[in-house]
Amino acid sequence: MIINEKRLWSQIEKLSQIGKNFDGSITRLPFTKEDRLAMDWLCDAMKEAGLDTHHDEAGNLIGEMLGSEENEPCIALGSHYDTVISGGAFDGTLGILAPLEALRVLHAEGYRPRRTIRLIAFKDEEGNRFSYGMIGSKAISGLVSEEGLLAKDSKGITLYQGMKDFGLHPDQLGNCKMDDIKAFIELHIEQHTTLWQNKKQIGIVEGIKGIKRFSIKIFGESNHAGSTPMKERKDPVVAMSSFITKVTNCAKKYPDLVATIGKINTIPGEVNIICSEVQFSLEVRSLKEEEITQLMEEMQEFSNSLEKEQQVRVKINEEFSADPCLCSPSLREEIRKVCENAKVSYQDVISGAGHDAMNLKNVTDIAMIFVPSVKGYSHRKEEYTSSKDCQIGAEVVYHLLRELTK
Ligand SMILES: [Zn+2]
Repeated sequence: MIINEKRLWSQIEKLSQIGKNFDGSITRLPFTKEDRLAMDWLCDAMKEAGLDTHHDEAGNLIGEMLGSEENEPCIALGSHYDTVISGGAFDGTLGILAPLEALRVLHAEGYRPRRTIRLIAFKDEEGNRFSYGMIGSKAISGLVSEEGLLAKDSKGITLYQGMKDFGLHPDQLGNCKMDDIKAFIELHIEQHTTLWQNKKQIGIVEGIKGIKRFSIKIFGESNHAGSTPMKERKDPVVAMSSFITKVTNCAKKYPDLVATIGKINTIPGEVNIICSEVQFSLEVRSLKEEEITQLMEEMQEFSNSLEKEQQVRVKINEEFSADPCLCSPSLREEIRKVCENAKVSYQDVISGAGHDAMNLKNVTDIAMIFVPSVKGYSHRKEEYTSSKDCQIGAEVVYHLLRELTK
């Protein structure tokens, strides 16, 4: 192996000390003291690896290895260095440190890429302080909304103010947009068990699942819980339970689709009153938009039959939609070739979680490389990827960069 396993591991350990809690978990929220410390540490590490560094108005840290052909669009890669509250040492940070190690080796070898290689340490992906999230990659992709900047933290400070207090320029986020990227690659821990269970070293991501969120209301008839016979009831809670069972069973017909009811509200919500109304959420995720459409068509039909059989009224409202984000087939093929040549085991995987890469899709082709998460753990202190697997991830990035910049 070309990548130095020990050196990469010691970098992961060093960065994990910043924001470390007593229980061993890590809390590194954006625009805080921990954020500053991590950013400065990463900036030094990038410089030490031979990169030219700068920050943009969103607080992203950018390190570049300049290419011999200055006008050629660059190859960008990176991930985020914030964590959730009580998070782990690998989510996000490995997607910066593994490519950084690859670049350190390339620098030591005196490699001069034909096109510039740009490593980005993104600001605030997790959205754990301000609910908005992904401010860094949204800024680079020209996707920041004005209302997003008004998101508040638990102390009532807006994201806009948080950025200003950190010495940034939230009024100038337009300057962050990058129009010179040929391809963006994000390495990330899998946050799921597929690779770990199948004992594969690399996951080549087909895409990130799209999301649709619905709010559903079922209206029935409120009445006395003691004196209304079962036969005469129009109980929306009973109708809801049929709906939930049906949607769960329908979802199981699609191998990669997931459907979740996360919130339920019963009205009036008293022990001795048959409800007049229930409201609940339904979130559906899949890489194939048509599967979500099919599922919801089936649920609409089912709702019509519920209305007749149980004498209730069902209203389904779409509240939020994010399209599935497909990775570039040609980049996936490049990664596959690299894995074959390096004799690294791999398989195709789908990402159920969102990542910075999906914003970059707005400005360029993207690819994602997953490495195994032991037991699929993430967003908790037990999150773990072995040093060998980290090394293999960096090794794949190293060969891929040589391929894409020769
Ligand atoms: Zn992440």
